[in-house]
Amino acid sequence: MIVVLLGPPGAGKGTQGERVAAALGVPKIATGDVLRAAVKAGTPLGLEAKGYMDRGDLVPDAVILGIMKQALAAPEQARGVVLDGVVRTVPQAEGLSHVLAELGKPLDLVMLFTIAEEALVARLSGRTVCDACQTPFTGRTPGETHAECTHAPKGTLVRRKDDEPAAIHNRMAVYEAQTAPVIAWYRAHGAHIAEIDAFGALDDVTARALKAVGKG
Ligand code: AMP
Repeated sequence: MIVVLLGPPGAGKGTQGERVAAALGVPKIATGDVLRAAVKAGTPLGLEAKGYMDRGDLVPDAVILGIMKQALAAPEQARGVVLDGVVRTVPQAEGLSHVLAELGKPLDLVMLFTIAEEALVARLSGRTVCDACQTPFTGRTPGETHAECTHAPKGTLVRRKDDEPAAIHNRMAVYEAQTAPVIAWYRAHGAHIAEIDAFGALDDVTARALKAVGKG
């Protein structure tokens, strides 16, 4: 099953996407994770992406389409994949649709996470992430070692640069201007869209998301 996750920053796409992918027995690809790993490793991709990411701007479509093509052609994706934050502009939605057509795979579901902006700002400004495995947390202090981290050495909890107030504000504006039109694009192209209310306890949101993929 191929699932695209859409929704504003902070809606919980990453965490819920992990759970949906595990329930479906397929991998999850998050372009944000691929790009952060590239920035950390100092690769040419990372050097190109860093400035955009720190400001909360989108990385150019051509860069994302390259990542998308490479990731979808990998054999691990044969049974399906959950795509988290991979489609954020209309050209990216068009690009994904071409890549899938070339591979002869259908897009089964667009999962759209909806939540009020105040709740998002509160979530993002209280978030830390492990700098090794990228697991997000709320209510934990930056600088703490991530004791449950499976990487060696264990990661440290850090505040993402793009979770600072100016970048959060910019990411919301970018979402409205560039990503919200993707929803209309998928509607116009007859995609199957499941709207998930992303407000509430983590497990309640997971229950809604799993139901949408027939695993509830
Ligand atoms: P995320 O972890 O999904 O919040 O992504 C973090 C940042 O990576 C975004 O704010 C963008 O700068 C960049 N990024 C991730 N995915 C994309 C995408 N599909 N298109 C453009 N930029 C992206």
